[in-house]
Amino acid sequence: MTERIRMLDIAAQNGPLEEKLKAAFAGVLESGRFIMGPEVTAFEAEVAEYADVKHAIGVSSGTDALLVALMGLGVGHGDEVITTPFTFFATAGSIARVGATPVFADIDPVTFNIDPERVQEKITSKTKAIMPVHLFGQSCDLAALKKVAGDIPIIEDAAQALGARCCEGSVGSVGDYGCFSFFPSKNLGAFGDGGLVTTNDDALAEKARVLRVHGSKPKYFHHVIGGNFRLDALQAALLRVKLPALAGWTRMRNENAARYDAMFAELGLPAEVLTTPKRVHEGHVYNQYVIRTNKRDALKAHLGEQQIDCAIYYPRCLHEQECFAFLGGKRGDMPESERAAEEVLAIPIYSELGEARQERIVSTIGDFLKR
Ligand SMILES: *Cc1c(COP(=O)(O)O)cnc(C)c1O
Repeated sequence: MTERIRMLDIAAQNGPLEEKLKAAFAGVLESGRFIMGPEVTAFEAEVAEYADVKHAIGVSSGTDALLVALMGLGVGHGDEVITTPFTFFATAGSIARVGATPVFADIDPVTFNIDPERVQEKITSKTKAIMPVHLFGQSCDLAALKKVAGDIPIIEDAAQALGARCCEGSVGSVGDYGCFSFFPSKNLGAFGDGGLVTTNDDALAEKARVLRVHGSKPKYFHHVIGGNFRLDALQAALLRVKLPALAGWTRMRNENAARYDAMFAELGLPAEVLTTPKRVHEGHVYNQYVIRTNKRDALKAHLGEQQIDCAIYYPRCLHEQECFAFLGGKRGDMPESERAAEEVLAIPIYSELGEARQERIVSTIGDFLKR
C-alpha cells in the first residue's frame, strides 16, 4: 500500500526526544508547580537568545500574544490597525477583540506579505498600529514598512516565523512587539497551546508581563485590566527540550524547499500552471511551502486521491469573512489577496519529509498539471 504523506509527522519529530520529554514531564509533576515558575522563566531566556531579542514573555497562545501586544500599546475603541487580509484569522480577530478597527492593505503577490505601498495608502490620523505578518515563515519587508510607519508602532505577527531573519534583524525584534505561537503546526510546536511576546523595549516588556496576569502588580492590585495570558510550566518545560533542535529542523526545511525548487523547475511548466514560492530573504524558515496554480482545486482533489495531504492557507480573505461584514469590505477590494486565496496550495515541507517523498509529491503534481 502507498504511504499516506501528511502535512506534518509529529511522531517523527518527537520520537528521538521521547526520553527527554518524559523526563521534563516528570520534573514538572514532581515540582508541583504548574503555572509560570522557573521553567517558564528559563524558557523565556532561551527563546529570547534564539530570537535575538532582549525580552521574551511567555503567554497562553499566539492569539493571546497579539492581544497582549495590542493592549500593551493601548490600542482600543476608535483606533485603526492596518493589517493584511491574507493571514490566519487571529491577526485581525485580535484587533477587533480589543475594540479597534482592522483596516486591510493588500499583499505583494510574490511573497504573500503585506505590501508597504498599500499600507501607506491606508494610514490616517486614527492609525494606532500596523500589524504585518511574516507569512509562511518569510519576513515581510520590514525595512520598507518601518519607513512608511514613521512613529506608528509595529506589531509583528511572527506566529509562523520563529527564527526567521530579514535585513533588519530577527523577526520579532524589529517592531515594537513581536508575537509568536507554539501551536503544534508551527515550527516550534508545543503539546497544546502556547505563545510568546517579544520586545527590545523595557517599558513595553513590563506592560506585557503585567497584562499577562490580569494587570496585577503587586498581586491583587490592578492598575490596568489584563487577562489570564499565562504560559503553563509544562509547555515551557517541554518546549525547552525541543528548542535546541529547532535550528536543525529549520535547516532541514530549507533543504527540502531548495530540493522542491529544483525538482519543480525541471518540470518546465508555465507560471500560470505552476509558480513556486520565492525566497526574498535568506532567513526564511518555511513554516509552509506554498505553490500557486490555476488548477488548484482539481490538483488538491487529485493529491488527496493519491494519499498526499495538502492544505489551503487561506481559502477566504479576512475582508470577505461574514464576521467582518460590518467593516464594509467586498469582493474586488483586495485583488492580490483574493487571487492568492484561489490559487495557493501548501504541500508537505516538514523537516523529516526526505527526498523520496518529495520525488513522489513532485511527480504526482507534475503528471497532473501536464495533462
Ligand atoms: C497560528 C497563528 C496565530 C495564532 O496562534 P495560536 O497560537 O493558534 O493562537 C496568529 N497569527 C498567525 C499568522 C498564525 O499563523
